[in-house]
Amino acid sequence: MEERLLLYATLGANWVYGSRITYSFVPDGTSIGGTPSTLYQTLNALYPTSVWQREFNEAAAVWQAVANVNLVQVSDDGSALGAAGYQQGDPRFGDIRFSAIPLAFGTLGAAYSPPQLNGGPLAGDVVLNSIMSWKIDANYDLKTVAIHEIGHALGMSHSEISRADMYSYYTAMKQALHSDDVSGIRSIYGGRQGDAWNSNGQSNLSYWDAKSLDGWRTSANQITVADLNITNPGQTEWFWVTIPSSNIGSFTVSAQSTNLSLLTPQVTVYDASLGLKGNAYSSQFGDTATLTIPGVSTGQGFFIRATASGGGSTGAYALQVNFGTVPLTPVAPPFTMVPTQNSQGAGLNTLVQGTVNTVRATERALQDHHVQLKIGNLSAWGDALLAPGFARASPALESLYAAAAAKAQAASAPIAATAEASAFGAALSFRHEVSPSWTGGLQTTTGAIDDVLAGWGGFEKSSVGKRRPHRS
Ligand SMILES: [Zn+2]
Repeated sequence: MEERLLLYATLGANWVYGSRITYSFVPDGTSIGGTPSTLYQTLNALYPTSVWQREFNEAAAVWQAVANVNLVQVSDDGSALGAAGYQQGDPRFGDIRFSAIPLAFGTLGAAYSPPQLNGGPLAGDVVLNSIMSWKIDANYDLKTVAIHEIGHALGMSHSEISRADMYSYYTAMKQALHSDDVSGIRSIYGGRQGDAWNSNGQSNLSYWDAKSLDGWRTSANQITVADLNITNPGQTEWFWVTIPSSNIGSFTVSAQSTNLSLLTPQVTVYDASLGLKGNAYSSQFGDTATLTIPGVSTGQGFFIRATASGGGSTGAYALQVNFGTVPLTPVAPPFTMVPTQNSQGAGLNTLVQGTVNTVRATERALQDHHVQLKIGNLSAWGDALLAPGFARASPALESLYAAAAAKAQAASAPIAATAEASAFGAALSFRHEVSPSWTGGLQTTTGAIDDVLAGWGGFEKSSVGKRRPHRS
């Protein structure tokens, strides 16, 4: 029964260009609301860089596998989180940036919502709590948290289903999407779409439907087919080429996902009798597989088969064939640059002075845990993921919130400037304050909730006083 219910929620926000959403790992020292990130220091102490980054790659790939988005890892220049720049496609860093600083104990990570809820580069950025005990394939599982936070960064809100990745609390390892998560992300971006060779009645899924690329050959004796797509895991796409009269006795074939998607590409060449001539594959997300077939002569025909080799099981790719001597130029990524725009959605000031409808809208937002997320001097729409046993606000703040919400529902007129509205605003601002309490300048705003979280989570006050960031 539960499996058939659709209990996901979405933020009403999404990236303009789902065709290429980039992500990056911020270098240590990058300012996260005034606190330097220690993502590498924290995770390198536990696992080699390539190992922990692969958990994030795999987390991104589970979303790419089921929705009409391509995700691509890019470099990061260490600009402060929230620095001015492009909303999407900023050349300095990923659209989604992963970082880690000490957050309030019990918080695993936090994510800022995507455009247009946040109109600038902060949209989609993810901050992990560097003081929590991170693991791979054990609690707290990096991939589980990464899937959840990337879900937010793509526009997912929380699900009512406790087994969904987008459930609002960490309850267990969840390394694959629940059907509810799949339904949710598809409601935002749609399912993966077949490329021009596999849509509108076209198909090249089998060798007998192989598409001839002979008409695509340029005067330089090269073929480039961009905008290809492995839509479903296990899908194979078949092409056919004939060796032209001008050739060098060999030809080269490339399946490129580098800069295009997380697909791990594989390309195989067969002769006209389906005899295997060569195979190349990658084990890396978003890579290029290339092979050269020697000993060919004019007029011979060859099948080319493209598919995934595991890991990134779906995604965009480009196919290139070179019969000549001029090196191939890799296919450039699609244009995705979007300037910063105004953030949408009411802020706290609007709320405190707001009308009944504003409060009701905000109440719904609170139920979705879609609120102002404060990390140091950063404040924007977002969400924080908590470990088991940790609540989002104190009983006192919850009761203030409930009183304001009840007042809003009972009132027939605006409740602007009432004590309840002010209390409501105060509760809201505390609710998602996840800054470290032990860094300068933040003691006043974070101390309260930090103690509250510790108390609610069953931690003794005495032990709270002893806890420190686990830096190594
Ligand atoms: Zn969440």
